[in-house]
Amino acid sequence: MTATSTSVQVCNHPLIQQTLTRLRDYQTPSSEFRRRAGQLSHFLVFEAMRELTTREAGVETPLGPAKGVVLSDYVILAPILRAGLILSESAQDLLPNARIYHIGLKRDEETLQAISYYAKLPEALPSESRVYILDPMLATGGTSIAAIELFAKLGVTTIHQVSFVAAPEGIKRVHEKFPNVKITVGAIDDHLNEHAYIVPGLGDAGDRIFGT
Ligand code: URA
Repeated sequence: MTATSTSVQVCNHPLIQQTLTRLRDYQTPSSEFRRRAGQLSHFLVFEAMRELTTREAGVETPLGPAKGVVLSDYVILAPILRAGLILSESAQDLLPNARIYHIGLKRDEETLQAISYYAKLPEALPSESRVYILDPMLATGGTSIAAIELFAKLGVTTIHQVSFVAAPEGIKRVHEKFPNVKITVGAIDDHLNEHAYIVPGLGDAGDRIFGT
């Protein structure tokens, strides 16, 4: 079950909400956090990919011909290093043929601006490209906007962000700049604190996934 506005999809499925609750718990150990984060990634990516397009393709079953489909989008997964890797692993399991472009963006802890340190993108991408920006936390929106801009410059018009948790401030900022970007999340939380962490959120997703 999902609550959807034009471009924000909050996934209310009980399994998603239960898994997110385990991630929020500060007592959840890193090993369980990583496992649950993988599960949540799988659920959210699955929901976000509901809009993939297909074309008809026949198939032979042991009993004869049947109608079938194959995916027709050119899917690009763009995990934001490093926490986004957990989402891209699950997405790659679901879509082994997707292209993966890793995006290295970090926040300057004083200015909170996104600083790019890695992005190896091609000079052009097919017009039917569908990009999934993968980042567990959509906080200020600065990182998302920087990542979206990289693909928008290449002419990509179908861009979708998948995150575990978002802050209302981040969603607003992304949509002010890119109103057509779809955002799929497990929850929209209350607010950002003075360090730009999501409250209540789940803490530092990267540190908790990688046990650092
Ligand atoms: N990044 C995180 O890992 N957590 C937050 O709350 C915000 C940004």
